[in-house]
Amino acid sequence: MTRPFRVAVVGAGPAGIYAGNILRTRALDAGIDVRIDLFESLPAPYGLIRYGVAPDHPRIKGIVTSLHDMLADGSVRLIGNVEVGADITVDELQSLYHAVIFSTGAQRDAVVDLPGLNLPGSFGAADFVSWYDGHPDVPRQWPLDAAQIAVLGNGNVALDVARVLAKHPADLLTTDIPDNVYAGLAASPVQDVHVFGRRGPEDIKFTPIELRELGEVPGVEIVLYDEDFDRSAEDAPTGERRAAGNQAKVMARILQSWRDRASTGAPRRLHLHFWHKPVELLGEDAVAGIRFERTEPDGQGGIRGTGELRDYDVQAVYRAIGYRGTPVRDVPFDESAGVIPNDGGRVLDGGVPVPGLYATGWIKRGPVGLIGHTKGDAGETIEKLLEDYDLLADTPSADDDSVLEFLEGRGVRYTTWEGWLALDAHERALGDSFAGEVVRERVKVVSRDEQVAISNREVIVR
Ligand code: NAP
Repeated sequence: MTRPFRVAVVGAGPAGIYAGNILRTRALDAGIDVRIDLFESLPAPYGLIRYGVAPDHPRIKGIVTSLHDMLADGSVRLIGNVEVGADITVDELQSLYHAVIFSTGAQRDAVVDLPGLNLPGSFGAADFVSWYDGHPDVPRQWPLDAAQIAVLGNGNVALDVARVLAKHPADLLTTDIPDNVYAGLAASPVQDVHVFGRRGPEDIKFTPIELRELGEVPGVEIVLYDEDFDRSAEDAPTGERRAAGNQAKVMARILQSWRDRASTGAPRRLHLHFWHKPVELLGEDAVAGIRFERTEPDGQGGIRGTGELRDYDVQAVYRAIGYRGTPVRDVPFDESAGVIPNDGGRVLDGGVPVPGLYATGWIKRGPVGLIGHTKGDAGETIEKLLEDYDLLADTPSADDDSVLEFLEGRGVRYTTWEGWLALDAHERALGDSFAGEVVRERVKVVSRDEQVAISNREVIVR
């Protein structure tokens, strides 16, 4: 009798769940008896959807329904609260599985060298997003004491950060935000959020739906500046704006409609600035301002500085200039690209494939693209893995309980799918029991210990 083909997927975000699901289907088609374990460092599944998508984006969070269905039939077994590289090494995993797929995503902020970056009041978007999404590993309190705020970057993360900062907190109460986040946002004195792009309005990396919703936030006025549009109209397009096609046209119309609007006198304002390259954060003990150099198209698809400096008085700066992957111990990592080096998903070490190791999602190709794009990505990785099946199937492996016994022996309080169902029901019940006038879909449990205890039905000691 042939032994089951055992595969570990590391990271239970969309990329990992799609990979597990596609592997399951294709292995069945190929007549391979596959067993898939999905490891997650957090007690709960869904990665970026639970801890990266903004709380006021229920449409995107709705993807959870299809991911839930992929896990609910048990064909992919969830093992949460296990950090691969710490609780179990990659070597140990490889002794239990024929293949390991890394789908660990990109959760850190891209690195940038700006004087003043370490001043209090300077934040990376990744940390702020983790805070408002109730990630267990960031502090509960966020210093929201700035009335004027700068957000750097013209991608969708910058929009998320700016929108959450500018939004009146009552409009977030119907979402799944944790109580500490609601309390923090409710105390914020913010009046002006300034979003800065280093290129022009035609070069934005926003997407139309996300841009449009910015103009629909109650009690927040969008402010645009004529000087930014005059500048781009007379020059050749830079970078990607030529390639953006219809999306760019839709977004140009959205921006124009805002320019045509009369001022609403709303108590909060969200300013969109273009052609501003950050130069330095200003302040001695804390952020007191930010300096930019104005830019212009260089005629060759890029930008160049004009030499004109502009200072803005702000008390906080958020960098939303892209994410970056985190290395997994003992797995090759390309520091400059922030990804696991790979060829179509086969992990490479010095250009040579490492037998049995694969990558998918943002840790494979970098933090670009929408959640749906990770499906195609997973398909490619699974194709490579199945091409290698004959080589991999011979390596030693264990039985279904081996990894659980291993983790128990090491004292790891792992969580399961049944545990997630218990935590999910608990969070929804907290939402139902909210005594206010609004309906709260759920209230997220933030603490890791508490999540594990609820999942494992342990007694919570306070
Ligand atoms: P992104 O789309 O790559 O945008 C990064 C932005 O940072 C760009 O405007 C870039 O400008 C700017 N930037 C980079 N380095 C900079 C520097 N040194 N100084 C100033 N600006 C700099 O990345 P993202 O916003 O992190 O989003 C990542 C992916 O997730 C994207 O595919 C995004 O669409 C997706 N996402 C989607 C949603 C949604 O609601 N649908 C929400 C969040 C994220 P240049 O263009 O000049 O390089």
